[in-house]
Amino acid sequence: MSDNWGFDTTAIHAGAAPDPATGARQVPIYQTTAYVFKDAAHAARLFGLQEVGYIYSRLTNPTVGALQSRIAAMEGGAGAVCCSSGHAAQIMALFPLMQPGCNIVASTRLYGGTVTQFSQTIRRFGWSCKFVDLDDLDAVAAAIDDNTRAIFCESISNPGGYVTDIPAVARVADQARVPLIVDNTLATPYLCKPIEMGATLVVHSLTKYMTGNGTVTGGVVVDSGKFDWSASDKFPSLSAPEPAYHGLKFHETFGNLAFTFHGIAIGLRDLGMTMNPQAAHYTLMGIETLGLRMPRHVENSQKIAEWLEKDPRVTSVTYAGLASSPWHKTAERVYPKGAGALFTFAVKGGYDACVKLVDNLKLFSHVANLGDARSLVIHSASTTHSQLTPEQQKAAGAGPDVVRLSIGIEDAQDLIADLDQALAAASN
Ligand SMILES: *Cc1c(COP(=O)(O)O)cnc(C)c1O
Repeated sequence: MSDNWGFDTTAIHAGAAPDPATGARQVPIYQTTAYVFKDAAHAARLFGLQEVGYIYSRLTNPTVGALQSRIAAMEGGAGAVCCSSGHAAQIMALFPLMQPGCNIVASTRLYGGTVTQFSQTIRRFGWSCKFVDLDDLDAVAAAIDDNTRAIFCESISNPGGYVTDIPAVARVADQARVPLIVDNTLATPYLCKPIEMGATLVVHSLTKYMTGNGTVTGGVVVDSGKFDWSASDKFPSLSAPEPAYHGLKFHETFGNLAFTFHGIAIGLRDLGMTMNPQAAHYTLMGIETLGLRMPRHVENSQKIAEWLEKDPRVTSVTYAGLASSPWHKTAERVYPKGAGALFTFAVKGGYDACVKLVDNLKLFSHVANLGDARSLVIHSASTTHSQLTPEQQKAAGAGPDVVRLSIGIEDAQDLIADLDQALAAASN
């Protein structure tokens, strides 16, 4: 494996050599639950984590393992753990860091399901979340207290396509010695490498651009391997003896792979949010073309956002690639290859016009997904962000008068023609 490979070579080759048993060139789907031990001593060594190997597919599987290595290489991380969905990845990322009574500081501009997970569901574990506008770095610093165990943001955020100044937020996290977790789903490592900008952990919904064709539900947590878990007593799951693993100290034993080993040995073993090998195989195949797809997603989005912005039937467009966006300068500096392919726009006529527009689009599919080769549309306020209060919707950029577009890789003129006829119908 070469550390000097370019993006596309890494996306195609990292983590996958020809299959040692058969020579199969593509990564086989290892559709097996268990793996035969060589003898009793071998089994005992595997169970004691004295030797790395395969025991049971809830913990490790060669197909999933190839995907983990590939994504770790693409993100510049020390290791990665795949799991069953993007939401599972968020819980997997927080689990080793948190105890009852601990909190996270998270951006107000997040995927709707994440706002619900953080504002409601994690409270059942005794965890809590403070939501802050991450453009206000003083507010971020002020929100951090002795019980804060992570800062969480999206690189490019759902649904508005707003961009986060990751290096600036990472400096605040660094000063407070708190890990920064970046959800890199909308940017992918093609547009943004959060670890190079100071993030500790990266999470993804692999369901979206990484697979790229709407066939898989999956997630991943990537660890930079750079956070010193033993510098304080705040992260006992990683630094102190682990009672659920014969008193093993993960950081002392596994060094920069402590978080990754904990994710497998405790996270997957006990929470069970495992990715299946078929999902890993589809995701590996999707990732091979990520470097070809993302520039086209961005190019189409720029054209369509510019077209919409000039249209008198449209009130506003949020795409950070537009010079009119308040996030444009940050986008150019932090995301020089483009501001992604997800944004919202407001239609004259408000809620009713939005609904009419969605119902009249023909080429765009009306679905609760994004990051597909196909262009997709949804009215966030009544769907993905419907569990949020009106204030939360507004802060997230998902008010009732906006429609969210996920721009695919079709021909831009066909997408524009479809939007044109649907806007005409919505304006009547
Ligand atoms: C879709 C999405 C998630 C959740 O991922 P699932 O795979 O659907 O669980 C999290 N974050 C962002 C930014 C997303 O778009």
